[in-house]
Amino acid sequence: MRDIVQAGDPCLRRRCREIDSADISSYRDLVGDMFETMRNAPGVGLAANQVGVDAQLFVMEDTQDLVSRTPTSLAFKQERIPFAPTAVFNPLVTLHSDDVSEFYEGCLSVPGYRALVKRWKTLQLSGLDPDGNPISLTLSGWAARIAQHEIDHLNGVLYVDKMEPMSFCTQEHWKRILESEWGAR
Ligand code: ZN
Repeated sequence: MRDIVQAGDPCLRRRCREIDSADISSYRDLVGDMFETMRNAPGVGLAANQVGVDAQLFVMEDTQDLVSRTPTSLAFKQERIPFAPTAVFNPLVTLHSDDVSEFYEGCLSVPGYRALVKRWKTLQLSGLDPDGNPISLTLSGWAARIAQHEIDHLNGVLYVDKMEPMSFCTQEHWKRILESEWGAR
């Protein structure tokens, strides 16, 4: 497990460096640690600079367990479909929809708060897997939102840079908003 870097640390504000495919095997322990740290938080995505490592790498995962612990109306609004653990080195958005959706996001580096952020509804992503092989992913819904949030991290961008400022709220107020807007409990 690793400590999660908090907003204000300069490493969250720098663009992370790309990793040569020949060096990827030396990041195996880091990938494992990042999954463990993300699951423990718990969260659904984590970028390498969030654990203080300067590398273009993020992990993400959404499990049936996490989805089933989310109120049905909220999970529906989030377009959440569980997906397998995914680690991507040197991620690059190769194609995205013009359509955007706006929903609340939080961040393990900005704990306790939420805000509305617009994200592309679908996107295609290229990169390398933990074995150094090229991968291409087509993502939509909640997975697409997570990937965009994590890629922003790797470019030194936090969700608060892109949020709808008037929607910024504490976790407590966010829960109240969800209850009143979507009947989520
Ligand atoms: Zn984040």
